Amino acid sequence: MGYFGLSSVLSSTYVTSSLNLLFFYLTWTTLVMSQPPLHIELLGSFAMRILFYWIPTLLFTLFEVVMPGLSGDLKIRRGPRIAGKDVFWIGMNGLMNQVIATAIQGAVQSTYAQLLMRKVPVFDIGTTLPMPWNIVKDILLILAIREVITYVLHRHVLHNPRRFRKLSRYHCVNHNFPKTPTFALKAHYAHPLDYFLIQFLPLYLPAYLLRVHLLTFFLTTAIVSLESALIYSGYDIFWGLLGGTVRRIDRHHCPGGEKMDFGIWGILDWVSGTAGGRSRPEEEGGAIDVHAQVSREVDEKKRRLAKRLKS
Ligand SMILES: [Zn+2]
Repeated sequence: MGYFGLSSVLSSTYVTSSLNLLFFYLTWTTLVMSQPPLHIELLGSFAMRILFYWIPTLLFTLFEVVMPGLSGDLKIRRGPRIAGKDVFWIGMNGLMNQVIATAIQGAVQSTYAQLLMRKVPVFDIGTTLPMPWNIVKDILLILAIREVITYVLHRHVLHNPRRFRKLSRYHCVNHNFPKTPTFALKAHYAHPLDYFLIQFLPLYLPAYLLRVHLLTFFLTTAIVSLESALIYSGYDIFWGLLGGTVRRIDRHHCPGGEKMDFGIWGILDWVSGTAGGRSRPEEEGGAIDVHAQVSREVDEKKRRLAKRLKS
């Protein structure tokens, strides 16, 4: 393609993206002008959860129901399947937690707007769109603060039965079905108080403190929703940071896995020495490498059988 051909393609792409942006801006402005901020915030947040958590999660669940053999082969480890009625109630529990989270979001917004006599909502719901760099910066900051809050609460409160007996017991709900590899519906399966501490607070607190633009918050909710569906899926098909996180989440939910892997992205676990991994022996709290464990057990049984046959 010659120079003129390339430049005409580039300019047509530029015109198309400019028109898309203009259309988006007009739609957003109309929405902000015509709807109360609370409606936009709550409906938008819930829509993000449906699009980016529920749709992929229900697809994963359908795949596991229709093709149990293939889906089992793709999982990080093998384990018993969960009964259909349990799957249903796990899903209902996750939905209930998200409805409660949305209700708390509404309560925070109303309190901020009415009781504190502020004329503006918590999130910036202006017609001026945030710059791409500011969106990226705010999202990274929210995710970094979320990682720290999650790690601290998860390790020092929810897995600290000596000091926080009740909260630790509530957290056990999320650790139900330890012999089954993790599945996407498990991401939001928790006691409501545990859900508030480990899922709501770490995400909403930094977003409220930074008073980010509502579009930035929607984008963050979309990322976190998709992330939770993927990292809890238990599938050994991802690579890089995502693949590592899927394995870490599954390891934390293995029998005996609650002594390690408290963070989401693993950086704080690595720094604090709580990272499970093949490099650390099990006695020191390292990961239980299920494949290695199974092959060790098989070798041991073979050895015993050979010994019995000899004698
Ligand atoms: Zn835990």
